[in-house]
Amino acid sequence: MKKNDELVLEITDMTDEGLGVGKADGFIYFVKDSIAGDTVLCGVTKLKKSYGYARLIRIIKSSPDRIEPPCPVARQCGGCQLQQLDYGAQLRLKENKVKNALIRIGGFPEEQIESLMEPIMPSVKQLRYRNKAQFPIGRGKDGGLRAGFYAGRTHSIIAQEDCILGAEENRIVLSAILSWMESHDIAPYDELSHKGLIRHVLIRKSRAFSELMVCIVINGRELPNKEELIKTLLDALDKEGSSMLGSLSISSNMKATNVIMGDSFSTIYGKPYIEDEIRLFDEQDSDKSLDIKAEALSEGAVQSVRFRISPLSFYQVNPLQMEWLYQKALSYAELRGTETVWDLYCGIGTISLFLAQKAGKVYGVEVVPEAIENAKENAKLNGLGNTEFFVGRAEDVLPSWYEEHKGTGSRGATPDVIVVDPPRKGCDEACLETMVRMQPKRIVYVSCDPATLARDLKYLCQNGYELKRIAPCDMFPQTVHCECAVKLERKILKSKK
Ligand code: SAH
Repeated sequence: MKKNDELVLEITDMTDEGLGVGKADGFIYFVKDSIAGDTVLCGVTKLKKSYGYARLIRIIKSSPDRIEPPCPVARQCGGCQLQQLDYGAQLRLKENKVKNALIRIGGFPEEQIESLMEPIMPSVKQLRYRNKAQFPIGRGKDGGLRAGFYAGRTHSIIAQEDCILGAEENRIVLSAILSWMESHDIAPYDELSHKGLIRHVLIRKSRAFSELMVCIVINGRELPNKEELIKTLLDALDKEGSSMLGSLSISSNMKATNVIMGDSFSTIYGKPYIEDEIRLFDEQDSDKSLDIKAEALSEGAVQSVRFRISPLSFYQVNPLQMEWLYQKALSYAELRGTETVWDLYCGIGTISLFLAQKAGKVYGVEVVPEAIENAKENAKLNGLGNTEFFVGRAEDVLPSWYEEHKGTGSRGATPDVIVVDPPRKGCDEACLETMVRMQPKRIVYVSCDPATLARDLKYLCQNGYELKRIAPCDMFPQTVHCECAVKLERKILKSKK
């Protein structure tokens, strides 16, 4: 076999990234856009010693799990890797991904994982579940203004103003912005020449209050024709009778980088935030409550918290699943009302404030200053004075706080529970090490990456903790990503330092 050769493959498996896997002549091939159960004709694109990559040319026999992707540009876009896979099969793939990571990377025995893992929580909505979208603005092949996504490895943009994972309002906002750019001859950013003004549009929607946040990322400091932009947006949203514009801001990013947002933002209309409300339901009732919640925000919530979210703050993208996940994390924390808790990687205080409603004291740590500002405001807004928030990296703040307070009798140095919810790269070892030294009774680990979760759980379990429960949750249907909540308990009760 050599590059560009064609071959027929039976796809027998799928990788964690959603590539089909097939074998021929002792070689393993990875084939994008194919799924387990397919027989495909494909063309070799790359060969290594024992494996290679191939591109799908034609499906000869369809897998029983194959469905027509609901989005017409699913294959070109690449944002969704699993649209051609039936939802039940997507869930199985994710469950296996979590299991495999814990067994292979975490080194946990298969039987232990089988017995501790809860069935994956399916997403109530499989499309239009995202409350946040970021669209690059640029030119299409014909030079016209576009919002959509980059056509694989090029600098031209394929128009897709209505991503079917996102809110319907995105389309209205984007076409208003493009028509304003057109009328005032405002240039989109061009990655190659690093010229042009408008780079990205971030849109976030509050589910509880149908408020929209729009943030325009610019390669410059000032936005011309602001008043016209505000008017165009307000008129467009008004005409379609949809959500209200709660916040319009600009964020200046003049670096030649693929990081989307700039370091700061300034508000040009409305508030510097939008508000959302998260409601938690009784866990026993979770199936029922999810049904109800899918239709409307309903009565019967056992806890609710109102949040302010700035453009630079992290906020979970799938609100219904978020509620389930937080409920799970909270029940794993087993709070009775008097406990001292740390919430590391706390963002705007989402988990912290639910914890604070049930604990004595909650400390939160987060690296983004704007998010901590939100967290403090949110604590006030909800009357939760038993919270304290720190800006900084968890791996810096926690060790230095601990060094300063250990042995002083401060309960923060000997917390009952530590909750962590790190980004994909997981926790830094300096953070894990201090957590272990603080000897909390329980650790609740919320993770968006099974591989780094498995790595960190291995460390914690080698250092005095025991895995108690694992709950995968599908936050991101159509993609390969999987979220998990995990409960750990301290094995040996050593005397506290
Ligand atoms: N628990 C929050 C946020 C989780 S996302 C929620 O559920 O909404 C992870 C958060 O960790 C982000 O807000 C990110 O800004 C923050 N973060 C990333 N690296 C960090 C670090 N080294 N120390 C502290 N926070 C960090």
